Amino acid sequence: MKKLYNALQLKKALMLKSLGVDYIKPLAEFKEPQIELPNNLEELKKIVQNCYLCELSKTRKNVVFGEGNKRADLMFVGEGPGATEDNTGRPFVGRAGELLTKMIENVLLIKRSDVYIANIVKCRPPNNRVPTLKEALTCKPYLLKQIEIIKPKLIVTLGSTAYRYLTNDNTPISKARGHFFDMQDYKILPTFHPSYLLRNPSAKKEAYIDMLKVKEFLESLKSQK
Ligand code: URA
Repeated sequence: MKKLYNALQLKKALMLKSLGVDYIKPLAEFKEPQIELPNNLEELKKIVQNCYLCELSKTRKNVVFGEGNKRADLMFVGEGPGATEDNTGRPFVGRAGELLTKMIENVLLIKRSDVYIANIVKCRPPNNRVPTLKEALTCKPYLLKQIEIIKPKLIVTLGSTAYRYLTNDNTPISKARGHFFDMQDYKILPTFHPSYLLRNPSAKKEAYIDMLKVKEFLESLKSQK
């Protein structure tokens, strides 16, 4: 019986490999990949924390699922965890995160805990490299499910990578930023990544203008309620 089980697991592993999944856990720990993702964040988080579908799972310390208000009208999506996020399991808690928190609290005049913050990939790319297309596509169903559950009205993508991987649009961030893009159930507004703003403080002026648009959008939502 055990032999048959192992043979079936091996067959499954080879099939996954032929589909492009090139890293899987040892067979004994291998679990059926989830086809239907659950419709609640706690269950989804458990699945993401046990994900080994890409290379990033080999080097991560912690999965950074995302955090914040589960019914937020506003969601921020970054590229992927950095070192501080990998160490703590929380999104945007390093230097870039401090700046993002200031943008939320000092410009939007709301609390960080009022919004939801997530990333395209949930595990840190080694040396903070940009996630590959394959990594982003492997992780994207988790983000899409988060969006489906939270139902934000507006998603602010931070930086070119988050914008590109979420929308499949290759327009440079310098051109796309500050514009609202209509998706089926929500709008997207791309802006600069806080890490970019730390390296290029002169771009903060434009990011500030983008945040004022976000603020206006949130106020218009309030007046509709
Ligand atoms: N940069 C990101 O894109 N995401 C984080 O969570 C932290 C830094």
